[in-house]
Amino acid sequence: MDNFNDLSQLFDMQEAVHIKRATCGRCGRPSPTCWCPSLPRVPVDIATKVIILQHPFEEHRKLQTARMLQLAAAPGRVEIWRGRHFASHKRRRELDSPGCAVLYPSSDSVLAESLPRGSVTTLVVLDGTWQQASGLHFHNDFLHKLPHIRVAAPNTPSAYVIRTQPDVGCLCTAEAAALAVDALEHRSDCLPAVLGPIEALCRHQLAWGAVPHADKRTKKRLEAEAAVLAAAAEEDNQTGAGL
Ligand SMILES: [Zn+2]
Repeated sequence: MDNFNDLSQLFDMQEAVHIKRATCGRCGRPSPTCWCPSLPRVPVDIATKVIILQHPFEEHRKLQTARMLQLAAAPGRVEIWRGRHFASHKRRRELDSPGCAVLYPSSDSVLAESLPRGSVTTLVVLDGTWQQASGLHFHNDFLHKLPHIRVAAPNTPSAYVIRTQPDVGCLCTAEAAALAVDALEHRSDCLPAVLGPIEALCRHQLAWGAVPHADKRTKKRLEAEAAVLAAAAEEDNQTGAGL
């Protein structure tokens, strides 16, 4: 009987571990670190089509942010194409259309804010570390013919405080793309829509020991929020162990 109870407890523990490791079907994150509740209640109805060319390594980086923009925007407005070479991509010709531009801060890039509303209908965004994004730009010649746009650095520092490598203008992909869409469409709701999930992701990472790279005020606030999360997780563990 004791053995039966032990076995039953073992199954319960395995089930608990299984539940703990369950992955969110939307963001792909382990359920305890899912950032979906921080997405806007109503997706932002952007007019620009955003096509994110994602370096294959980025897909597996657990801290990637492209998916946040995809879920924060109205369905179908943001697409993620994965790979290194897109010249033979089946939909590559769509990137020849007038109104297509690439977000890349080359020397001939123009500020998104300076363009008339509606002049860019499709925005290509390169997703990866700064080196990977440069590589994507270098190896995909057809991008060089597109108008290049850049965004002005925002007044506030990046919310993505756990980055390990500098991204374009020190912004993560979701921030840079959302900022560009806001500038191109003369709106101001796309960037705030991705800040919620970015901050949620950072809070979880900080709670698990990530080192923040932020201004003092943001760092203090996020560390305090992370401490609350860590305490709650600890409490859950102790409760679980007592069952
Ligand atoms: Zn989720």
